[in-house]
Amino acid sequence: MHIQKGMVIGAGQMGSGIAHVLAQSGIQVVLNDIKEEFVQKGIERIAKQLSRDVEKGRKTEAEKTEILSRIQVSVDLADAKDVQLVIEAATENKEIKLEVFRQIDQIAPKEAILATNTSSLSITELAAVTGRPEKFIGMHFFNPVPVMKLVEVIRGLSSSDETFQVIVDLAKKMNKVPVDVKDFPGFAANRILIPMINEAIYCVYEGIASPKDIDEVMKLGANHPMGPLTLADYIGLDVCLAVMEVLYEGYGDSKYRPCPLLKKYVKAGWLGLKTGRGFYEYN
Ligand code: NAD
Repeated sequence: MHIQKGMVIGAGQMGSGIAHVLAQSGIQVVLNDIKEEFVQKGIERIAKQLSRDVEKGRKTEAEKTEILSRIQVSVDLADAKDVQLVIEAATENKEIKLEVFRQIDQIAPKEAILATNTSSLSITELAAVTGRPEKFIGMHFFNPVPVMKLVEVIRGLSSSDETFQVIVDLAKKMNKVPVDVKDFPGFAANRILIPMINEAIYCVYEGIASPKDIDEVMKLGANHPMGPLTLADYIGLDVCLAVMEVLYEGYGDSKYRPCPLLKKYVKAGWLGLKTGRGFYEYN
C-alpha cells in the first residue's frame, strides 16, 4: 500500500512532530485536534522548527512553504474519509483513545491502517475496539520527533505482516529507524529506560548521592549524553510515574515499584521542566 494521505490525531508535542515529518516526506497530512486553536498551535510549532532549519541552511524558504502546504487543519474526525493511514497521538488516556478508535474505525476507508503512538497502553486492547485489528499497529515515536531516529513498531496480537511491512516502509521513508517490538507493557525502550530512571531516584531517596552527582556518574561512567535525573525532568516526572505504574501492574513484579520520592514529587506538582521544578529548578 502506498501512503499518500494520513491523518494525525492530537496536535500536541508528539502529534505535531509526526505531522511535520510526514509532510516533510511528501505525504499529505490532516492534523486533527479537539479545538482549532490546538491545531494552529501545533502548526506554529512546526513552522518555528522549519524556520530554524532555513536559518541554518538545512532547508530553503520554498521547501518550508511546501511542507506547511501539505498540512490541513481538522477538528472533525470525518476528515479521515479519504486517508490511507491514521496515526493517533492524543492524550495518554485509555478512554480517550478507545473512543477515538471506535469513531475513526467507522469513518476511515476499510483498507486504511490505524496506528497509535501510545507510550504505555496495550496495542492489542486498543485494536480490539475496531473491526480491523489486522490493520492496527503501534508506531511509537520519540521526542522530539523530527530529531529522534527510533520508531518502535509494535504488532498487536492480530496485526498482519502486511500492516507491519507498510509501517516499516513508511518509517524508513520518514528517515527513521524502525525496530520490531512485541506488545508487552513498556514495549522495549521505556521498559529499560524508565526503571533505570526510577533506580536513580531511589539513589537520591536513599541518600546515596545528590541528583547532580548521580547525573555526573552516569554521564562519565556510562557515557550517557544526559544524566537520568535531568532526563526524568525533561520527560516529565508524571510520565515517568505513569510508565512505572503500567510496568508494575502489567508484570506484577516488585522490581517495577515506583520510588516513593517520585510519587511525592508528582503529588507536589514538581513535574520537571514543564512546571519549573523537578530534580532541578528551571527559570
Ligand atoms: P500532548 O498533551 O502534548 O498532546 C496531546 C494532544 O491530544 C492535545 O493537543 C489534546 O488536545 C489532544 N487530544 C486529546 N483528546 C483528543 C481527541 N479526542 N481528539 C483529538 N485530539 C485530542 O501529549 P504528547 O506528549 O504529544 O503525547 C501524545 C501521545 O504520544 C501520548 O499517547 C503519549 O503517551 C505519546 N508519547 C509521548 C512522548 C513524549 O515524550 N511526550 C513520547 C512518545 C509517545
